[in-house]
Amino acid sequence: MNNSMMQQSLTINSLIEHANRYHGSTEIISVETNRDLTRTNWSGIHNNALRLSSALEKLGLSKGDRIATIAWNNRRHLELYFGVACNGMVCHTINPRLFPEQLIYIMNHAQDKALFIDATFVPLVAKLQDKLDKLEHIVLMGPRDEEAVTAIAGLKFYDELLDAAVSDFAWAAVDENTPSSLCYTSGTTGHPKGVLYTHRTTVLHSMGGNQPDGLAISAMDSVLPVVPMFHVNAWGVPYIAAGVGCKLVCPGPGLDGASLVKLIDDEKVTLALGVPTIWQGLLAALKETGSKVESLKRTVVGGSALPPSMIATFRDDYNVDLIHAWGMTETSPLGTMNQLLQKHTNLSTDEQATLRLGQGRAPYGVEMRLVDLDGNVLPNDGETQGALQIRGHWIIDTYYLAEESALTDDGWFDTGDIATIDADGYMIIRDRAKDIIKSGGEWISTVELENIAIAHPKVASAAVIAAPHEKWDERPVLIVVPAEGQSPTEQELLAFFKDKVATWQIPDKALLVETLPLGGTGKILKSKLREEYGNVLS
Ligand code: ADP
Repeated sequence: MNNSMMQQSLTINSLIEHANRYHGSTEIISVETNRDLTRTNWSGIHNNALRLSSALEKLGLSKGDRIATIAWNNRRHLELYFGVACNGMVCHTINPRLFPEQLIYIMNHAQDKALFIDATFVPLVAKLQDKLDKLEHIVLMGPRDEEAVTAIAGLKFYDELLDAAVSDFAWAAVDENTPSSLCYTSGTTGHPKGVLYTHRTTVLHSMGGNQPDGLAISAMDSVLPVVPMFHVNAWGVPYIAAGVGCKLVCPGPGLDGASLVKLIDDEKVTLALGVPTIWQGLLAALKETGSKVESLKRTVVGGSALPPSMIATFRDDYNVDLIHAWGMTETSPLGTMNQLLQKHTNLSTDEQATLRLGQGRAPYGVEMRLVDLDGNVLPNDGETQGALQIRGHWIIDTYYLAEESALTDDGWFDTGDIATIDADGYMIIRDRAKDIIKSGGEWISTVELENIAIAHPKVASAAVIAAPHEKWDERPVLIVVPAEGQSPTEQELLAFFKDKVATWQIPDKALLVETLPLGGTGKILKSKLREEYGNVLS
């Protein structure tokens, strides 16, 4: 029997082919590692992706092989995203900020056969090279560079590979369930674990995440993904951008506030995406330069808790709408995004801002629930806290090469986050399950205490950890990096919590430190703090 409707595979190929067919002349801007700015367009990316596919085959690589990248957001990296996946190989993006042992573990675990690197990472890779078991090719993403050859024997060059490639290469049909890209979690506990996305999950994520209540990117946008392409595929932005044919601005290594302000102004960026620390840098640079970033309409912020004042600053000082989003490597990553409902239009600006501080609600394609320690489903009443579980079209089932599914018996993925969900489905992350403080049978959110602490004028950054306690099991301890030139006393720091939280939630102790330890994705390593300061109450 004939199908009543066409059946077409949901592939990344179809995204880039659409961009080439209908948006071929739309610009792609790229800041290179030497800070030069180059311009190409979607047709240029498409053509080079085809040449790259041909070059990979010439190197003897074949379908299913993992091709790794250690690179910034730039146009060659974009070409790799498509040139690797559209020919049935797997693009394994690696976070260069991980510790060397983690990098070695990840590349050996993934059995990467080729590694594409930006010039910045030549010294790093030169040191690791001998320990990478399966690696057959290392390719520098640029023209020939004699100095780099002395650091890495046998180094190949991206531009030379493309020059020598077949010019009329065509992709064979790819099944939608073919793996397309691989990202490892940063592994703040235990070994990093791989999440293997497929063409189908990537396309569904692009469509589901880009609804009007999601990223809402259109062909009218000039989009600046500050979130790295080595961090959960830059939240899927490269694929979404191809699917809608928007202008894409790749910032390369220039992630400081001043470079971003210039790029936004020069390239008329309308939407930028990144983690909160990036926007703190940008806001500081805006103050300094006096730029009003006139073109910028929206910023999407996620990856860690949003400082409460950020929405208001963007709105009041720059007329920019900040959209809070939540997700993780295991969720591709877009899990929730925070946009209001029609009924919220009656609320005051402040009430709306309070609602928008939460992590938001699920788009079509994602479902969430809360459960207690025994796995019982909890109510969505906005107050009951529980373990956040999720399922949907672009959520993990089994970690790469793991023997067992990562899901519960009834098919949900436990995120490791503690959250509340209200009757409208708005979710608020209260803490990570491993960080939350269990004091006398009650839970204390470290995030809430940290938000209070960083509002203190003498505090630059703060972390709260659980310290074992004889009577209460665990009690909160505040660890603070003072603002420049300040030395707040323990007493004044703790007094600052009075009337802001219940008395029993106020930390037992406050310590001053010079810096807080950060992991590979820029998040505070609380496990390290617990190791170092965990016994201060015993
Ligand atoms: P890792 O789990 O190693 O930190 P991910 O980058 O996958 O790696 O991070 C996912 C976690 O980051 C989430 O489970 C959550 O705890 C945190 N996170 C992400 N977005 C937000 C957000 N908007 N607010 C608070 N926490 C967030």
